[in-house]
Amino acid sequence: DKEITVTITVVGASGDLAKKKIFPALFALYYEDCFPKHFTIFGYARSNMTDAELRIMVGKTLTCRIDKSENCDQKMKEFLSRCFYHSGQYDSEDNFSKLDEKLKEHEAGRISNRLFYLSIPPNIFIDVVKCASTSASSTSGWTRVIVEKPFGRDLESSSALTKGFKQYLDEDQIFRIDHYLGKELVENLSVLRFSNLVFEPLWSRQYIRNVQLIFSEDFGTEGRGGYFDSYGIIRDIMQNHLLQILALFAMETPVSLDAEDIRNEKVKVLRSMRPLEIENVVVGQYKGHVKGGVSYPAYTDDNTVPKGSLTPTFAAAALFIDNARWDGVPFLMKAGKALHSKRAEIRVQFRHVPGNLYKNTFSVDIDRATNELVIRVQPDEAIYLKINNKVPGLGMRLDRSKLNLHYAAKYSKEIPDAYERLLLDAIEGERRLFIRSDELDAAWKLFTPLLKELEDRKIHPELYPYGSRGPVGAHYLAAKYNVRWGDINAENYKT
Ligand code: NAP
Repeated sequence: DKEITVTITVVGASGDLAKKKIFPALFALYYEDCFPKHFTIFGYARSNMTDAELRIMVGKTLTCRIDKSENCDQKMKEFLSRCFYHSGQYDSEDNFSKLDEKLKEHEAGRISNRLFYLSIPPNIFIDVVKCASTSASSTSGWTRVIVEKPFGRDLESSSALTKGFKQYLDEDQIFRIDHYLGKELVENLSVLRFSNLVFEPLWSRQYIRNVQLIFSEDFGTEGRGGYFDSYGIIRDIMQNHLLQILALFAMETPVSLDAEDIRNEKVKVLRSMRPLEIENVVVGQYKGHVKGGVSYPAYTDDNTVPKGSLTPTFAAAALFIDNARWDGVPFLMKAGKALHSKRAEIRVQFRHVPGNLYKNTFSVDIDRATNELVIRVQPDEAIYLKINNKVPGLGMRLDRSKLNLHYAAKYSKEIPDAYERLLLDAIEGERRLFIRSDELDAAWKLFTPLLKELEDRKIHPELYPYGSRGPVGAHYLAAKYNVRWGDINAENYKT
């Protein structure tokens, strides 16, 4: 039997994402012994760098999971000795042929598996895919390509991109990353639901009043608004990360855990969604604000943002899935920058207990006393269920309490970064957490008419102060469906 090699080429190795996420994730996988015996990592970009310079650059970003571990330095040295650099243009088949020669030297006649990680701006995706597939793909093993968002900016551009990829690649070679799918608690969503008897029977319109998908950052674009301004928060967060979580949350039980079975169910959810109407969307943009003597900038103060930009830095939306399970249940999404907190969470608010015997003994408004399941994806991962409980003592008074699974307290192991899981999955050919072309199409079909309308009608975003809870319109939107955003109100309870 011939031995196997894996080569990972990070295209755009001189960039921010490569330094911040990809190389550290590759090292973490090496540290955890996840790579085969023969593997090589290549950085590819236009910048001039020697292998030694790449190693210095990469070395600065590596950390060991257990910092004090004795073999940490040794492992870093070993890892860096497997990293090489090749400088080339993104559209030059010649330059990729030279890369191919180097890869072959390292593969030394073994079966060659090659993974290309496109950590580059999207306008050069197709050039690279073309050159890599024609001049540097494996002849004896697999060739796979990981792509980072953005996957287009609307249905048309995304379809064109997919068409471009498919000229050179088959569907099973394309790994579109949505790093939210690699997050521990998002992966756990299906485990929670399908392996615990107490959740799945409740997972429908019969018991669930609404579902909230919330993403907030407590900082603005801070000088990196150039990229953001041409996309906006809906494309940057909602159309991909939040919608993916929604699809996973709401899908029917898949036939198996096989990638195609899961992705089939996710597509069905996306295709069952009601077209998104502008009346069900609120957009916002942060404005300058002085608090405690500190002044916070407006989005349009960012030098990289065009003056008068209408790009939303906040959006809230009410979405509906018109199928038997979810008919009438609002799925409320909220995503924003420069808000008061940094978090990503899923909140499931259950219906009232019918004919509640205890309705007169609550210490809070009964309307707020329904059960709520919260899955806090980040930071400080946790799953908790809010229940009503008798306050200990002679009287009969009910209070809100949490059944709390706090990851830091329960599991001592550090949670791997999403990029580690996704890279390992791509190497192992596990496609479950990557976005298939038809899923991407369905996601864009849902959001494109809305985005077009917002842009054509030049809808002005509602301004909200930097560091606030976002535009007030988001509360009216929720109120229209008899919903309160959980993160704002429910947390004020005594817990
Ligand atoms: P980046 O630093 O802007 O670009 C990566 C590399 O691509 C650069 O070092 C540069 O290398 C090359 N490059 C940059 N601009 C180019 C241009 N106009 N034409 C040709 N080559 C160019 O990007 P990044 O932040 O690392 O992100 C990489 C990709 O991941 C992007 O598509 C981004 O949208 C996406 N992404 C990034 C993040 C993040 O946290 N940074 C998160 C999610 C997705 P050379 O000049 O050496 O060739």
